[in-house]
Amino acid sequence: MTKPHGIIAGGGLVGLTLALALHRVGVKTRIFETAPEILPLGVGVNLLPHSVQSLEKLGLLDDLKAVAIETSSLNYFAEDGKKIWQEPRGLAAGYSVPQLSIHRGDFHMILLKHVKERLGEDAVYNDHRFQSFDQDENQIIAHFTDHSGSNTKNSATADFLIGADGINSRLRKIFYPDEGPPHYSGQMLWRGVTEMDPYLDGKSMFMAGHNDLKLVAYPIRSESTKRGKSYINWIAERRIPSDMNAKQADWNEAGLLEEFIPYFKDWDLGWLDIQSLFENAISVHKFPMIDRNPIPRWSFERAALMGDAAHAMYPNGSNGVSQGVLDAMTFAELIEQGGDIVQILKSYEDARLEPTSKIVLANRETGPERVMQMVKDACTGDCKDVHTCVSETVLKDVASSYKKLAGFDKNVLNSQR
Ligand SMILES: Cc1cc2nc3c(=O)[nH]c(=O)nc-3n(C[C@H](O)[C@H](O)[C@H](O)COP(=O)(O)OP(=O)(O)OC[C@H]3O[C@@H](n4cnc5c(N)ncnc54)[C@H](O)[C@@H]3O)c2cc1C
Repeated sequence: MTKPHGIIAGGGLVGLTLALALHRVGVKTRIFETAPEILPLGVGVNLLPHSVQSLEKLGLLDDLKAVAIETSSLNYFAEDGKKIWQEPRGLAAGYSVPQLSIHRGDFHMILLKHVKERLGEDAVYNDHRFQSFDQDENQIIAHFTDHSGSNTKNSATADFLIGADGINSRLRKIFYPDEGPPHYSGQMLWRGVTEMDPYLDGKSMFMAGHNDLKLVAYPIRSESTKRGKSYINWIAERRIPSDMNAKQADWNEAGLLEEFIPYFKDWDLGWLDIQSLFENAISVHKFPMIDRNPIPRWSFERAALMGDAAHAMYPNGSNGVSQGVLDAMTFAELIEQGGDIVQILKSYEDARLEPTSKIVLANRETGPERVMQMVKDACTGDCKDVHTCVSETVLKDVASSYKKLAGFDKNVLNSQR
């Protein structure tokens, strides 16, 4: 039986992961990326154990571990610096694979290297902006222009088309022409990286504050650690309910320190100099916290959505990339079983649409991070070194129910290995 051939629109993290997952099961793809060149952009992302297990199957774990930080714990603090909750993560928590905190660009370049090695140098078509498609019962034809949209490129024909073209997906726009811009949370994020002395054990992720003002940080590069430093990814989050520009989200927009530094001036965590973290930033980008409403269908005969194009979500819970990796693996496993491609795409949608829609909605309620607001609301000021105003049972329940919802319950995952 001949295997189907595919077109992937979008050479981001999910598009390239999908190309590798399909290659592993003998399915050929070509990747069409709008950028003239794939560059190591962005700052930190988290790869939770469920996606790391998948990336291990794709033979990427050694390369990832060589550059990333194996996250040891997740810690929540209130703005007064007192601890709310701490839990071990990855190997320290007993998972069979680590949780990895990594620079998005490092991850992207590892994926690109493996795609070129395995699929061939010519598998990735840069400067190809996906614009439209035609399909019938035998094939699908995708149409492209260059990045600027002014010059037509050759069309490509295949058995299926996956739109892994991100939060502003063109394929999604074709399926849902009236959807409009992404949904803005009312929170603005300033994302930066700073190299400085390590905090805590040099491998920990922490979040501090509450819904109106929050700081998240985690180290992301082992190379820096080897020199006794920490390459710290941080996100300063501030509520700005009516930012008129928030919906024109641009991952490359530069951020200004004065837009958020004054709001953190009284913060004192004791073990990290926050002002110095901000002031010594190597880069600062501004990006609104946005997502997309869950939709009823991802697959339309031979074409389907994947990754952010299908289920862009708030970063609460650090699940965006990981869910896209799971999409790719699920589709590859289904295609390996054989059958009609239209039905396979439908089965992929059946497997992934409902779970990811639930995560999108849970993240709107700040996901597992809601414990910080719970403390803000409950604390009468009597807590000593650690916040005890919300019971340990409740905190534990928030953490474990989110892991189940997002698919990284330890017992379930370890039994699947
Ligand atoms: C430049 C950039 C920087 C980012 N930085 C961060 C970060 O620091 N932290 C974080 O958590 N997340 C970041 N993200 C988002 C993060 O990568 C995604 O949320 C997540 O990885 C899901 O991956 P994805 O492949 O679905 O989407 P993306 O990673 O967004 O990839 C989508 C890809 O599709 C391409 N594309 C878009 N439209 C078309 C089209 N019409 N035709 C062909 N190709 C198209 C894009 O250029 C991009 O390469 C960034 C995304 C981008 C594009």
